[in-house]
Amino acid sequence: MTLNRRTFLGTAGVLAAGLSAPMVLAQGKPRVVVVGGGAGGATAARYIAKDSKGEIEVTLIEPSRTYYTCFFSNLYLGGFQELSDIAHSYGTLAAKYGINVVHDWAVGVDRDSKTVSLAGGGSIPYDKLILSPGIDFVDGAVEGWDVIAQNKMPHAYKAGSQTELLKAQVLAMPEGGTFAMVAPPNPFRCPPGPYERVSMVAHVLKANNPTAKIIIADPKAKFSKMSLFQEGWADHYEGMIDWIGEDFGGGNVSVNPDAMTVTIDGEETKVDVCNVIPAMKAGRIAEMAGVTDGNWAPVNAADMSSKADPDIYVLGDASQQGDMPKSGFSANSQAKVCANAVRGALTGSKIFPAKFSNTCWSLIDTDDGVKVGATYEATPEKIAKVDGFISQTGEDSDLRKATYQESLGWYAGITSDMFG
Ligand SMILES: Cc1cc2nc3c(=O)[nH]c(=O)nc-3n(C[C@H](O)[C@H](O)[C@H](O)COP(=O)(O)OP(=O)(O)OC[C@H]3O[C@@H](n4cnc5c(N)ncnc54)[C@H](O)[C@@H]3O)c2cc1C
Repeated sequence: MTLNRRTFLGTAGVLAAGLSAPMVLAQGKPRVVVVGGGAGGATAARYIAKDSKGEIEVTLIEPSRTYYTCFFSNLYLGGFQELSDIAHSYGTLAAKYGINVVHDWAVGVDRDSKTVSLAGGGSIPYDKLILSPGIDFVDGAVEGWDVIAQNKMPHAYKAGSQTELLKAQVLAMPEGGTFAMVAPPNPFRCPPGPYERVSMVAHVLKANNPTAKIIIADPKAKFSKMSLFQEGWADHYEGMIDWIGEDFGGGNVSVNPDAMTVTIDGEETKVDVCNVIPAMKAGRIAEMAGVTDGNWAPVNAADMSSKADPDIYVLGDASQQGDMPKSGFSANSQAKVCANAVRGALTGSKIFPAKFSNTCWSLIDTDDGVKVGATYEATPEKIAKVDGFISQTGEDSDLRKATYQESLGWYAGITSDMFG
């Protein structure tokens, strides 16, 4: 292109209007590849495809044909949702938004040639790559447990068959049996998740097996919404739940899946169900792309771009962004900021200042919902919390019921925001 007065003024006008200069591309349409069709990836793919109105080619790589949301998977355990209620397909993303949905694993990223290779063979070129692969477990995090043992001691921290298995195990517990949970260290996916799960398991046991016991071995001294959960456990499930925190050796744990034993600070207990939730790190493809610090992928708060590569963005649980908890709401919120920035970089559309929000609802018992949430902004260092809110202990039952109802509305909203 020759730079004449008209093109120069055109570009300057675009920049003055708060628009960004589009990236100069060798081929026709700019190409965005998204790896992972969960809360972050599906949202980003849908927003880029929807808002660019065909100007950008979007490919979504996701191995599963059905995505089971981890959010509300505890409610499935508790009998408040069916498995089919938390199952979603990618058909609308392809049919309505024209996204090229590839059901395969991404097994490599070549940052020089800007291609993503697939387990099934071949590779897909990108101008911008968005990674939202969720979490993987840290090898050897819980002594005696590895992924081979997940049928005997399920994690159920990626929803689907693991969640079904855990529910079947809870329902098959002998009368007066013991359910154990090994809780993870920070940071991890869904900070209130293990404690909502315990509440839901207690709800089921109270109805079917009221003399059963629950023990939680926890490496942490405190946990999300702790006083709310502890109040609820005392109110609804008195004497059933024993939380063993860091002070009582809750972090000094080993398990034996063949013998079905859990050893906490030297004391061995025979259990009937053991839900092991190991320490977590970014989904492996982020590490393979070379954008992690070994555990998580550091990103710039303004657009979720990787600190290691400006053409790669990392969303959701896999990212290390600052103050936001690793939640579906956070991933969805980050995806919209990223989609706007990626579209701006590729087409010159307006880029809005980054604003984020999150709320995590938890159900303790029927109609007893609690929540914690905050708004956030991008600073040069991180995504920083602006202000927050949390349910209070002692709230009346109408408010708790309304909080639960609010969570049902949120679920309907976020899943249609992800999948169309
Ligand atoms: C029990 C439980 C309860 C929860 N409850 C809530 C809640 O109430 N509210 C809330 O906001 N959050 C909740 N969460 C957290 C929420 O599920 C996650 O934070 C959210 O799913 C993160 O989104 P993500 O896009 O980072 O990862 P995911 O949603 O896990 O999506 C990652 C996707 O990437 C795919 N993938 C991974 N590797 C590859 C690869 N190499 N190639 C291609 N695809 C790949 C996976 O198949 C997966 O579909 C809960 C989590 C759990 C476990």
